Amino acid sequence: MNDYAVARRRMVREQLAAAGLDDRRVLHAMEVVPRHQFVPRLLHHRAHQDCALPIGFGQTISKPFTVGLMSCLLELKGHERVLEIGTGSGYQAAVLAALCREVVTIERVAPLAGRARQLLAGLGLDNVEVRADDGSQGAPDRAPFDAIVVTACAPHVPTALVSQLVDGGFLLLPVDKGREQILYRYQRRGEEVVIERSISCRFVPLLPGIQEAVEEEPGQDAAGTAADNPELRDDPDGTRAGRA
Ligand code: SAH
Repeated sequence: MNDYAVARRRMVREQLAAAGLDDRRVLHAMEVVPRHQFVPRLLHHRAHQDCALPIGFGQTISKPFTVGLMSCLLELKGHERVLEIGTGSGYQAAVLAALCREVVTIERVAPLAGRARQLLAGLGLDNVEVRADDGSQGAPDRAPFDAIVVTACAPHVPTALVSQLVDGGFLLLPVDKGREQILYRYQRRGEEVVIERSISCRFVPLLPGIQEAVEEEPGQDAAGTAADNPELRDDPDGTRAGRA
């Protein structure tokens, strides 16, 4: 077992199982998916810490517990089609891909979508489609979905998303409540929606429109150094990136 596999096993035991997450399929997926490959090379050594980390373009990869909790709350059995809004690094999509039949994931920052697409394909995850688009309207051409997970915070529930769920399907969405963000799980039951409150959380906002190619931020790839990367230089402890 290599060092990263050891670190993942420890991450699963200490941050997920110890916190009460008990879906064995989720724990196994997170033990297998190589999380370090989804963070910039100079942060590989911090990939398994209990914090969010910057991935460039002002965005973050969520901390392991958040990914684990969201994956558990979807109660996936293996046959489902899942929509994710907010691909970011592609890590949550990779975990979902190990838990269900098919994932469609949408990212508004086009270079992040491109990077995630390449990484997921390189890992052989051929059941994930990555789209560079504004995901707030979902993916009507691929609906309905058995589950939808939004990994960016919205001011309210986008109605388009609920209508793209199968009956009984779950929508997970962090909602901005002013002083804090709350993760909600909505279940479509016929024309009704059952709402459950989960944890207080911290995600980047769900923004409109597509952000096309902007110059690649230094420090996000193998060639970068902490000195080139203002996000890392200003925040050596990762506290500002302490979202989700
Ligand atoms: N799931 C990610 C982390 C989410 S970061 C991971 O595993 O790494 C949230 C992401 O949502 C950011 O990359 C941000 O650009 C994206 N985002 C914000 N608004 C969006 C929108 N309207 N449509 C699609 N993506 C959006």
